[in-house]
Amino acid sequence: MSLEQKKMVLEALSAGSERVFELQSSMTALRGLGPDNGGDGEQNKADYLEKWLRGFGIDDIQHVDAPDARVPSEKRPNFIVRIPGRTERTLWILGHLDVVPAGELSLWHTDPWTVTRDAKDEDIIYGRGVEDNQQAVVCGCLLAAALKEHNIVPDLGLGLIFVSDEETGNAYGIQHLLREKPSFVAPGDLVLVPDSGSSDGCFIEIAEKGILWLRVDIEGCQCHASRPDEGKNALTAAAAMILGAAEVEKRFDARNPLFAPDRSTFTPTRHEANVPNVNTIPGKEVFYIDCRVLPCYTLDEVLEAFRALGRDVEERYGVSVRVEKFMSEPAAEPTSEDSAVVTSLKKAVREVLGRECRCGGIGGSTVAVNFREHGIPAAVWALIFENCHSPNEAARISFAIKEAQVFASMLFTD
Ligand SMILES: [Zn+2]
Repeated sequence: MSLEQKKMVLEALSAGSERVFELQSSMTALRGLGPDNGGDGEQNKADYLEKWLRGFGIDDIQHVDAPDARVPSEKRPNFIVRIPGRTERTLWILGHLDVVPAGELSLWHTDPWTVTRDAKDEDIIYGRGVEDNQQAVVCGCLLAAALKEHNIVPDLGLGLIFVSDEETGNAYGIQHLLREKPSFVAPGDLVLVPDSGSSDGCFIEIAEKGILWLRVDIEGCQCHASRPDEGKNALTAAAAMILGAAEVEKRFDARNPLFAPDRSTFTPTRHEANVPNVNTIPGKEVFYIDCRVLPCYTLDEVLEAFRALGRDVEERYGVSVRVEKFMSEPAAEPTSEDSAVVTSLKKAVREVLGRECRCGGIGGSTVAVNFREHGIPAAVWALIFENCHSPNEAARISFAIKEAQVFASMLFTD
């Protein structure tokens, strides 16, 4: 009985390509840029999805919106959708509604806000958000609709979590949701975050490095470039500090094969404009260092190491150096490879894609860390090109269908 129902859902999903295109096109047109990215929020996208789901008779929809006076609706939508199963256990799939800006428009071959098919391969679509993270949203909706249309009650219930504000810190999204409803995920439930993955579907992300962004302010003394002895060149001091980052990295030399790369990384990135002309020695420099730290180190240890480097640069160049945390996200306890969600996902990938998964860690941060912090073992997996945030963001319609089939398979425990 259960096996037959599973077959029925998998078949229904395989005919869903028009539905994928419809959902992707509508969502991309509605954008969903958060106010920190210069947008008016995710409300229109959330309204569209809720209406779409209600159209299939899906009515168990619970809102946990976060107030935010900066957007026209004055709230950032977060909502939970449930389709009951035969047991109390639920498979949760999380998708975030917000996207990043299109970026430099001249780099796009098509309009970023109009989903367009590739001229040679019509399985490929382009548009901002089609990979990150609309595909996850689409897969959840497709599966929910298929269950409803065919009156299928799987072994596990299906829970969809739609959140705002993933791209700009999660405070109005998953963090708000977990604060308001700390125990909506029950202990036996499975939590899947399809927000990072690979094009062969063989990678399950179970761990993330800690993230520390440092802002470095260097104060020297501005003067005419023809009389350098009268000033203190902040750029030269900044250069010493930038090269010193590699020395700091050597001291945090632990290796962990779970991650690629397998070490902590300390990378100078953004540099703010200094003087506009060539013949002035800059008296002030601001730059940033992106640190990805293995879970065996604390972020404070790293901060202290860069402050010590700053004191050394102060002494050598006669400048003053301030090193501050710009953003930090400590690493959470990794999800075990033996956890129910990983075991079930591996089985489903084997069944649907005929492939074996490996587990590993990444240097980035996904919503999964918020669940892991609450002691919920979340897994991150998706079937994607891995081109999120780039111009000409692309996705395969068949990836979405396969991904939804993997989730469908996880709902059955045979
Ligand atoms: Zn994302």
